[in-house]
Amino acid sequence: MMTSTSPREAAAATPWYRRPRTVQPTVGFEERLACTLATLRAAAACSPAVLATSLSAEDMVIFHLIVREALPIAAFALDTGRLPRATLDLWRAVESRYGRPIERVSASAASLRALADAQSDSAIYESSAARHRCCDVRKTQPLREKLQGNACWVTGLRRAQSAGRASVFHHAHDHAFGLEKFNPIADWSDDDVWYFIDAEQIPVNRLYDEGYASIGCDPCTRPTRIDEHPRAGRWWWEAAASGTATECGIHVAAHANASATQTRTP
Ligand code: SF4
Repeated sequence: MMTSTSPREAAAATPWYRRPRTVQPTVGFEERLACTLATLRAAAACSPAVLATSLSAEDMVIFHLIVREALPIAAFALDTGRLPRATLDLWRAVESRYGRPIERVSASAASLRALADAQSDSAIYESSAARHRCCDVRKTQPLREKLQGNACWVTGLRRAQSAGRASVFHHAHDHAFGLEKFNPIADWSDDDVWYFIDAEQIPVNRLYDEGYASIGCDPCTRPTRIDEHPRAGRWWWEAAASGTATECGIHVAAHANASATQTRTP
């Protein structure tokens, strides 16, 4: 017997964020892609250059292009010890598929012991200070140490991701970390990202198929509804209290202290 499915049921059955977008490039995409490639080549010339990847869809686009274009840009990811299983699975799958390692960077055992002595795992939900302390120990400090000795870092930040990222440039000097920062897909839209992922068959985190729009540590990430901002699932309890999307501290510092040297790479 035939059964009919209402539009609401169909929408609920289809993850909204990862829904196939279009088989055609979006208007102006080829120009944006050319700009992205030029930015990546500029980053590669700024040796030593390194991609800080969270294995997000954006970072997968950049990693794919680095390998495809054979650019001398190394890659590392912060293993906070709190990453979702799906992210760890993707990490292994990406290294296997591309034949390129993604270096694991994590906090020292001593700093993790000090964090555990200072607060419980659940303290991150109880105070903003505790949450920031956890991010500082597990993410910002290891990142700072890893970036030392590099001339530039490459990220997948996009202006469309949040109001706080609306001023992201393709290339700026990052005063917070003391090196050049390149954001090759700064001007890409959501549709650009998913069009390119589908067109180039780039592997992505399976959590996008489960309603996650932005993926970080397991305790601090939840799926989002279609009426929510894509980053509303990150530190949602803080966002609910403040009414704005929030950040872990890595890129907030970078925005606040960055001075753009160019907005478009020819
Ligand atoms: S995102 Fe959450 S678990 Fe991860 S480092 Fe920050 S507070 Fe800790």
